[in-house]
Amino acid sequence: MTSKKLEGQVALVTGANSGIGKGIALAMGAEGAKVVVNFYSNPDAAAEVVATIKASGSDAIAHRTDVSKEDQVQGMFKAAVDAFGTVDILVNNAGLQQDAAFDELTLEQWNRVINVNLTGNFLCAREAVREFKRRGMRPVSKALGKIICISSVHEVIPWAGHVNYAASKGGVMLMMKSIAQELGPLKIRVNSIAPGAIRTPINTEAWETPEALEKLLKLVPLKRIGEAEDIGKAAVWLASDEADYVHGTSMFVDGGMALYPGFVDNG
Ligand code: NAP
Repeated sequence: MTSKKLEGQVALVTGANSGIGKGIALAMGAEGAKVVVNFYSNPDAAAEVVATIKASGSDAIAHRTDVSKEDQVQGMFKAAVDAFGTVDILVNNAGLQQDAAFDELTLEQWNRVINVNLTGNFLCAREAVREFKRRGMRPVSKALGKIICISSVHEVIPWAGHVNYAASKGGVMLMMKSIAQELGPLKIRVNSIAPGAIRTPINTEAWETPEALEKLLKLVPLKRIGEAEDIGKAAVWLASDEADYVHGTSMFVDGGMALYPGFVDNG
């Protein structure tokens, strides 16, 4: 019998009822992790993810939290510890877009995207670190804890019309690296996954018609859209001891989108 990569560990995945977060929660559950399935507005979808993880032989709970709210994030970590004893892996995945031309971007749109995509990452990472330090080393992993931020290729690629989103992801990149620098000596591993175009509800208009998909694939050297499972597999590896020397880096899982394929014909 092959041992599961995350056996005995507890993963808290934000935004785990949809898209990439769901792919990660299911992949970690299948590798033996108990999973806290965070959601914000869709409890039925979260219940479905919990049921699938339980059916695969592991355990899971759903927890509603707005990751941009400090008291709610603290409540979620308390619920995780009450249910499963601790948290070993945090996946900071919850995120959203509120797009507008720059001169029409409202302060409300700016604040909402920064609050969820960047402040939410900070609040969850801080609670995770407090929990890792509280409980000390466990025999289930070589690390005291692991934090994975789901940023985006837009942590480095500017994105006109999505300034709040790109700013939030650029912020996640330097937050992740700064935390990694500070927490490495404690054996807390901190990394990001930077997805390219993944087929989820956040970007339906980019892939739902053949014309839109053709246009999108001009930006992807591998000539296919990514699936949530592609990110799930990367996240399992990054959280596992197989990646024990990987720290403070962004792993691009993007079919080559960050290679600036617009320059393929000499620009
Ligand atoms: P999605 O299917 O729309 O999922 C977004 C998730 O975030 C949902 O589970 C949603 O929960 C949750 N969420 C939104 N606001 C929240 C809040 N305030 N508190 C807690 N959870 C909240 O989109 P996705 O594509 O999977 O996106 C997941 C992450 O991947 C995001 O950070 C996104 O920026 C990043 N990403 C996506 C792509 C892509 O091509 N899809 C590429 C690069 C990066 P509810 O459904 O319950 O509201």
